[in-house]
Amino acid sequence: MSNKTRILKGKPIARELKSEVAAGVEEMVAGGARRPKLVAVLVGENPASASYVASKTKSCQEVGIDGVTLRLAEDIAYEAFMEHLQTLNDDDGVDGILVQLPLPSHLPEREILESIRPDKDVDGFHPHNVGSMWLDKPARNPGDPPSVSTPATPTGIMELLRRRGIELSGRHAVIVGRSAIVGKPMAALLLREHCTVTICHSRTRDLPAVCRSADILVAAVGRTAMIGPEHVSKGAVVIDVGINRVDDRAEVERLYPGNSRRLAGFDRRGFSVVGDVDYAAVKPKASAITPVPGGVGLLTVAQLLVNTLRASRQRQGLAS
Ligand code: NDP
Repeated sequence: MSNKTRILKGKPIARELKSEVAAGVEEMVAGGARRPKLVAVLVGENPASASYVASKTKSCQEVGIDGVTLRLAEDIAYEAFMEHLQTLNDDDGVDGILVQLPLPSHLPEREILESIRPDKDVDGFHPHNVGSMWLDKPARNPGDPPSVSTPATPTGIMELLRRRGIELSGRHAVIVGRSAIVGKPMAALLLREHCTVTICHSRTRDLPAVCRSADILVAAVGRTAMIGPEHVSKGAVVIDVGINRVDDRAEVERLYPGNSRRLAGFDRRGFSVVGDVDYAAVKPKASAITPVPGGVGLLTVAQLLVNTLRASRQRQGLAS
């Protein structure tokens, strides 16, 4: 039974998205436009944030986008931070701005995200863009208002579902997690494609029963292998957004019985990256499942590039 499960790998889709962006950039440049430019604002020395930003700017380079990092000191004053942001907002040569989260505690995250110009908000976190997403305002027809960016992780998941031919209309999607960056926008985007949507969270009663009613189950919780076979109906499509670091070898052995590659990876690095889904136990029940790593994570950065290209085309007066 398990060998019938489709493994929805992120890599080929990310590659497709990136090559489409690269072609789009070259077409723009050949037509006399300037290259899209994305500025990532990195505050402080958080190694995880620095590594996310490095991978975003490296991906920009791969597709011909000018990807720049603005590094600011951990203890930068709010006023000074806002001056930098204003400069980026006012600079007509900057198409996309992303502020890498989390920010140091003295910087008010919400206020800062709300200060990014909506048409440069390639993360899709500004209330204007969030509102447009819920009001169903993608630019689909000539004459529509310019399309806005929707958050990269759920938008990347939608690309995966679309490009792998997963039927959405009329199906029940259950999302576990209600964060502003994954769970809620995931709900809006699935609803737009005519799913019936349920959002679960830490106070949902009888989570396994609600999850079992899903045709499409999206786990975005941040708890290692929390979604087990008791949460999944036979034939469900399972999308695992979680990225959890497991430092305990015995736990990795328990979660991936007989998986010598996984253990070899653990032995090399001293940790293993595990999703919110108990992959080995859930896979035999699912009709399709995303792996971790190698699934959703790879799509997020690729989608950010798509958002940046679109923002740049709009800024430079080219059709979306
Ligand atoms: P948050 O911590 O912001 O949200 C977690 C959500 O899970 C909350 O809504 C919370 O409920 C819910 N939750 C927590 N415990 C339970 C429980 N026992 N039962 C049901 N629901 C529960 O996380 P994010 O959305 O930011 O991220 C989720 C995961 O996705 C993380 O592992 C993160 O690393 C990963 N991630 C991956 C990305 C990628 O590119 N692949 C991008 C972004 C995130 P409540 O609201 O009630 O507290």
